[in-house]
Order: sequence, then C-alpha cells, then structure tokens
Amino acid sequence: MSSSQIPVAVLGATGSVGQRFMSLLDHHPWFKVVALAASDRSVGQRYADAARWILDDPMPDYAKDMIVVPATTESVQAKIVFSALHNEIAKDLEPQFAQAGAAVCSNASSYRRGEDVPLLLPEINADHIHLIKEQRKNRGWSGAILTNPNCTSTGLTIALKALDDAFGVKKVFAVSLQALSGAGYPGVPSLDVMDNIIPNIGNGGEEEKVEWEPRKMLGKLNSNKIDLADIKFSAHTNRVAVTDGHTVCASVELANQTDPETAEAILREYCAPASARELPSSPRPVIEVRNEADRPQPRLDRLTGKGMTTVVGRLRCDPILDLKFVVLSHNTIRGAAGGSIYNAELLVNEGLL
Ligand code: NAP
Repeated sequence: MSSSQIPVAVLGATGSVGQRFMSLLDHHPWFKVVALAASDRSVGQRYADAARWILDDPMPDYAKDMIVVPATTESVQAKIVFSALHNEIAKDLEPQFAQAGAAVCSNASSYRRGEDVPLLLPEINADHIHLIKEQRKNRGWSGAILTNPNCTSTGLTIALKALDDAFGVKKVFAVSLQALSGAGYPGVPSLDVMDNIIPNIGNGGEEEKVEWEPRKMLGKLNSNKIDLADIKFSAHTNRVAVTDGHTVCASVELANQTDPETAEAILREYCAPASARELPSSPRPVIEVRNEADRPQPRLDRLTGKGMTTVVGRLRCDPILDLKFVVLSHNTIRGAAGGSIYNAELLVNEGLL
C-alpha cells in the first residue's frame, strides 16, 4: 500500500453489491482494500472460494487470496468501511463501526431516514455531507454513517434535481422496471421471473422508499437538519428479467411550464457542485440525454460513463402532468457500490474523514 492510500474494508463482500465494490476498488487511486467480511458461511475462506463471482469483469487479482473475516470491529480495521449488508444486520453493525472510528458508507436503508444521517448523491446534494458534524456531536462518534439511496430513487432523483432547479417540480408519478441484481445473489428464483414481471418489490417497501428518499435528497440543509422538498410522489415498482440497470418511466408536474427541448438542454447542461465534480468516481457527464425514440435501454446504456452516468430519454409533453421521460441508472454501480465510493471520496475531499 502506498503511504498516501487510505485503508478501506468491505462488509458483505461476497454479495451482489459487495462484488461491485471489490471490482471498482481495484486500482482505486485513493483507497486500498485491507479487509473483507461476510457471513459465517464464508469466514475463513479465500475470497476466490467464498464468492460465486457474477460480474462480467474478472475477479480482481488483489482479492483472490484475501481471507474473508467476520464483520466485527476486532477483525475489520479500516478508516472507511463500505457496507453491503442487509438492513437488519447493518442496523446492528454499522453503529459499532462508527463508534470505533470508521466512516461507514452504507448501502442499507437502516439509517437513511436518520435526521443527522446524510443521504447522498454528491452530484446533487454534496452539501448534505456536513450533517455528519451534527451526527458526531449527537452520538459521540469519531466515525460516522453516510448513506446512499435506494437504487431506483438514484437516477430519478438526479434527473429531478436538474428539472427542479430550473422549473420547480411539484408532483412525480413513476413506474420502475428493476433489474435482477437489485435483489442480491442468488435473488429471485428463475421460475418466478422468467416470462414474467413481479410487482410490488419488497412488499411495498420499495415504493415507500421511492416516494420518500428523493424528498430528503432534494431538500435543503437548514443549519443542522434537512427540510424535505415539498414534492408529491406516487410510485409503482416492478422486477423484470434484466440483469443490471434500473429503468424508471416518470411524469412530472412543474411549477413553471417548459417544453421538452428546453428541458433537454437543462438536463444536458447539469453540473455537479464544485466539491463533487472532479473526484475519481464523479460521473462524466452527470446526465446523458439520448434522442433515439427507443433509448435508453438497459443493455445498451447502463455502462454510460462507466456506469456512473444517469441516462435520460423519451422527453416529451405529458397530457396529464407537464413532462414525461425515461431514466436509466446502473443499480449496482451508480445505485450502490459506485455511489458509496463516490460518497467516501467526497468525505475525504471535504476533510471530514
Ligand atoms: P446479497 O447479494 O444478498 O449479499 C449480502 C452480503 O451480506 C453477502 O456478502 C453475505 O455474505 C453478507 N452477509 C449476510 N449475512 C451476514 C452477516 N450476518 N454478517 C456479515 N455479512 C453477512 O445482497 P446485495 O444485493 O449485495 O445487497 C446488499 C445491501 O445493499 C442491501 O442492504 C441492499 O438493500 C443494498 N442495495 C442493493 C442494491 C443492488 O442493486 N443490489 C442497490 C442499492 C442498495 P455470505 O456470502 O457469506 O452469505
């Protein structure tokens, strides 16, 4: 490890999101993986034996011989801990790591609603990271918990931010078509999903997240808390037989009328705040707009900007609300591991580690 590299660990390293972490952290310019943890099923094994690798890119060499350790503060010692744990486990373990002094960058939903917990998409709300000062004060932690949103809210909220800044968003009606990797590994049984679409992901939990999380991220940091954005959301969430890439079809009501051409220019020109623009994982560009009538498509567009760019298409007038469009985001890259790494880079860049 070079002396300038920051030691990091991955909790849940063998899963769908954990594998993305391992892949994206290969040759990361700032971070070096020093520990990886998973369940009792995997502890004590070489990573190459414990993980059933599901990504197209090969397993990185650095990871193969690392031994999987338990997800405890004694076994995992790193300045930054990336968490790809399920919610119930994260709820218990993440505060232990924060208390022990680690910055926990979490994919779980357990703490997203915490008043002093930032819910971050650095390209739209980088300033919310300053909530961790309040968190450290409230909880007496030298570490912290930072969260990224549910993967379906991710691309939608980024597109909404550009539109909200320009025209004011009042109402959003959204229907998702979500990829299988979003359900983890091994995930949805093939006989359930082949030749089928499964509605109501997470027994309504996913719809609730898509209707609430964007309001926090589009809200304003007001001294030591977030004032939620005054936007009404209605969401339907569905699982489809796509491997990676969540698609959302959205219609929005705006405070100030516009036309699809002006909205397209606003989306194309959208820039991240200065503090989040030039980080190693910054999306380049933040938003790509496709003009073909049949794009975006998950297979063709999910790796735009190395999977960190939000892809928007089919911008047109909505006869019921004002504007409608389709948005695509890579769920395990921008919507999970890549997003958490971007959050950690922002933390370092802001001098908050
Ligand atoms: P997954 O494929 O089921 O992986 C779960 C991971 O957690 C595995 O590495 C598993 O290890 C480990 N684990 C299970 N029990 C554990 C324990 N008691 N202690 C330590 N490790 C344990 O799940 P996933 O899809 O990667 O999701 C991980 C988290 O990210 C979830 O909170 C999910 O909601 C969130 N998320 C996922 C996505 C996505 O697109 N998939 C997007 C955003 C957020 P073993 O292999 O040893 O069992």
